[in-house]
Amino acid sequence: MAKLILNRLAKDFGTGRPAVNGFSLDVREGGFLALLGPSGCGKTTVLRMVAGFETPTDGSIHLGERLLADAAQSLPPERRNMAMVFQSYALWPHMSVADNVGYPLKVRGIKGDAYRRKVEEALAAVRLEAYADRRPANLSGGQRQRVALARCLVTSPDVVLLDEPLANLDRHLKQEMEETFREFHQRSGATMIYVTHDQSEAMALATDVAVMSEGKLLQVASPAEIYARPEGRIVGGLIGRGAILSVNCSMEANRQLTWDRIAPLLAGADGPPAEILVRQEDVMIGGEGVPARVVSSLYEGERYAAKLALADSQIVRAFSRTPVSVGESMNVVIRSAWRL
Ligand code: ADP
Ligand code: MG
Repeated sequence: MAKLILNRLAKDFGTGRPAVNGFSLDVREGGFLALLGPSGCGKTTVLRMVAGFETPTDGSIHLGERLLADAAQSLPPERRNMAMVFQSYALWPHMSVADNVGYPLKVRGIKGDAYRRKVEEALAAVRLEAYADRRPANLSGGQRQRVALARCLVTSPDVVLLDEPLANLDRHLKQEMEETFREFHQRSGATMIYVTHDQSEAMALATDVAVMSEGKLLQVASPAEIYARPEGRIVGGLIGRGAILSVNCSMEANRQLTWDRIAPLLAGADGPPAEILVRQEDVMIGGEGVPARVVSSLYEGERYAAKLALADSQIVRAFSRTPVSVGESMNVVIRSAWRL
């Protein structure tokens, strides 16, 4: 195993706009990287180039010292020792769980004890030891997906590529599978790249989050780092729940602001036009704040999630423990904001 290095990777399908453009990223060995971005930004194309299903039009992909692909040559997928888990997973309905999982080994001519041991290990990695003899039809959706995952792992790939594997699942199953992925990553030590457009999924799962937009990498950092210090409005808008306010502010970009600096901005302080990111959890209702009016309120069980219009009619989001109703006026304090 080794570090996966994408260097100025590009893919142009000849549609007038490249799908991936100058994309550079190092994925550390054993890391769990989430590739996050809106639909159509090029995530799947990056993954397909890493897997070998697509050839880059420019740039290169290395696994350690080994060149996997550049514009002139591309190692076929079966020689990369990677596994790709797709959004829709196809299991053989007529085969048992164990036979489904062992299929890639059979194809490689692995038999006997080695075969049995690897299948057992893969089933244990996804906690399906007890289901080895069942048919896929007799499993739940989550269990079937775990079989598909085990089938990918059985060949001990260096890199596991996952393309929005949970996109079609309900919330409950999603949480269960997130746990399975995390556990699998810890057990296997494989390098994983997980494509998603869901920021909460990316934050919950990954050791590193890479945000992309329009074929380019915008920022890569740990979940905590990217949450605390998003670079620019696209990353700021994608990560966490919040709102971006247009203000006039002479402070440099990528800085934390506290209420003593924020209050004058809301009162129309002078300075060059700027944007600040206000996270929902940093907006406090009540106190010596600025006036706001409730424009929507959603009961979430343990709290209300409200949208509030400030005097200049810009919208912030806030949580409230007590009921808030549309049209109500109140004061808000913005405890902290991030100058984008
Ligand atoms: P994502 O996975 O982030 O939703 P994709 O990588 O699937 O994005 O697509 C990025 C862009 O490349 C989109 O505009 C898409 O329409 C285009 N694209 C993807 N695959 C092809 C292809 N085979 N031929 C032409 N255009 C493609
Ligand atoms: Mg995609």
